[in-house]
Amino acid sequence: MSNPIPFDNTYARLPERFYSKQNASAVPAPKLLRVNTALADELGIDPAWLDTTEALHVFSGNRTADRSEPLAQAYAGHQFGGFSPQLGDGRALLLGEVVDQHGTRRDIQLKGSGRTPFSRGGDGKSALGPVLREYMVSEAMHALGVPTTRALAAVMTGENVLRQEGHLAGGVFTRVASSHIRVGTFQYFFARNDTDALRELADYTIARHYPDAADTEEPYFTLLERVIEVQAKLIAQWMALGFIHGVMNTDNTAISGETIDYGPCAFMDDFHPKRVFSSIDRDGRYAWGSQPGIARWNLTRFAETLLPLLSGDSDVALKKVENALGTYNGRFRTEYDNRFRAKFGLADESPLDIVKSGLALLAKQEVDYTLFFRHLTHGNRSELSALFKDPTLLENWYASWKAATQSVPNLTAMRKSNPILIPRNHRVEQVIQAAYGNNYAPFHQFVDALAKPYEERNEFSEYEQAPKPNEIVHQTFCGT
Ligand code: AMP
Ligand code: MG
Repeated sequence: MSNPIPFDNTYARLPERFYSKQNASAVPAPKLLRVNTALADELGIDPAWLDTTEALHVFSGNRTADRSEPLAQAYAGHQFGGFSPQLGDGRALLLGEVVDQHGTRRDIQLKGSGRTPFSRGGDGKSALGPVLREYMVSEAMHALGVPTTRALAAVMTGENVLRQEGHLAGGVFTRVASSHIRVGTFQYFFARNDTDALRELADYTIARHYPDAADTEEPYFTLLERVIEVQAKLIAQWMALGFIHGVMNTDNTAISGETIDYGPCAFMDDFHPKRVFSSIDRDGRYAWGSQPGIARWNLTRFAETLLPLLSGDSDVALKKVENALGTYNGRFRTEYDNRFRAKFGLADESPLDIVKSGLALLAKQEVDYTLFFRHLTHGNRSELSALFKDPTLLENWYASWKAATQSVPNLTAMRKSNPILIPRNHRVEQVIQAAYGNNYAPFHQFVDALAKPYEERNEFSEYEQAPKPNEIVHQTFCGT
C-alpha cells in the first residue's frame, strides 16, 4: 500500500546539524499489543492499514514507511541541575510529521528503536514496562484534559533487554507530539554559540507553534512569553491532579507546553507536598510542591538561549528576559488558584484560606488526594470521613468549607476537575508485571477505564481504590 501514513516532513528540511539521519534497528519477532485507532484516524492514517503486517513492521522499526525520513534529533539539557551539552535522541527516532484533521502538524516518533549517534553507552532499546507505562499515563493525561504527547502504538519486539532488574521483554512505543522541540533543543545551539541555528530554530518554532508571534513587534520575545504562559498553565494542571512528573529536566520540557517523557512519574495517593517517586531523585528536587519553581528554573534556562536573538545589547536583552520571567509567578498563581477553587467548588475570586487549610489537613492526616476530592464532590460523607485517622478534624474543616461555599458548592466545576479514575501507580505496576507474564488483558482494560476519568462507571470501580499497604509503590525506576 502506498503512503499509508501521509508524511509531510519539515524538521528533516532544517540544517543537518539539527539531527542525525538514522534507520531503526530490526527486531526479531514483533507483536502489536495495542494501536490507538481513534488517534490514527485523527492523523489521517487508514484504519484498515493498522491491521496489516506492514503496519506492525513500521511500528516496530523493521520497515521504513513511504516518505518517512527517520532521524534522531539533537538536543542538550540540564539533568537534575547539571548541564550536558549533548543528549539527543539516544533511543528514539522521529519518523516524520503529518498534518492532522484539524490542520495541526504532529510528529510521529518511535521510542526504543535502537542505537543512534546520541546513544552514548545505552543500547537504544526500551523494556516493555516503560512502553506500557507511557501508553497508559499519556492517554490518561489526555483524557484528563492535560496537554500531552499521545500513544499511537505499543509493540513487543521478541527480544530481551538487559536492565537493572534483569533480562526484560523489549518493546517499541510510537509517540505522537505536536513537536519534540525541547528547552534542551535551544540549549544545544546556545551551548555552541551557534546563533544562526538558534534563529532558525526559533523561527521554525514560531511558525509551527505560535504563528501569531510572527506578526508582533518582537517575535522572539513573544515566543518567550507564550512558552512561559503554556508552561505555567501546564504545571498548574499537574498540581491540581496530584501529578508528579519525576524528571523535569530541561530536555524533558516541551516548547509546545505538552507533558513529555513519562519516566518515573506518578499520581499521588496520599497527599504530601514533598512527595517524590523517582528512585533517582534523591534530594526531592522534583517533588510535587517543587514543580512550579522548577518550571520557572527551566524557563530561565530557555530565556537565556534567546538572549542573542532579543537584542544586540546584552543589557537590553537581559532586561527583556527578566521582564518576561517576572510574569511567571503571577501567571502560575492565577491558574493554580482557579484550578483549586474549582476543585473545592468555590466561587470565582473567593478567598483561598479554605484551600490552604484543606491541603494542610490532607497532608497531616495522610489522606488519599483523589478519593478526598471524589467524595467531597459526590457528597459521600461517610466515605469521606473514613479517609481520616481523626474524623473530628474533618468535621471542623467541613463546617468551614460549607461556610466558604455558602452551602452551595459549584458541583459542575467540581465534577469537571476532580477525576474518579487516575492511573494509580500500584495499578500501573500490576499491569506491567502481568504483561511481563504474557497477560495483556489488564493493560487493555486499564487503558479502556482511563479513557473516561470523570465518569462514574461501576465496572471500573476497583481502579478507584488506594493501594493496600503491601501494594504501595515507593519508588519508580527509570527502567529505560
Ligand atoms: P530521559 O531522561 O529518559 O528522557 O533520557 C535522557 C537521555 O538519555 C536522552 O538523551 C535519551 O535518549 C538517553 N537514553 C535513555 N535511555 C537510553 C537507552 N536505553 N539507550 C540510549 N540512550 C538512552
Ligand atoms: Mg527525555
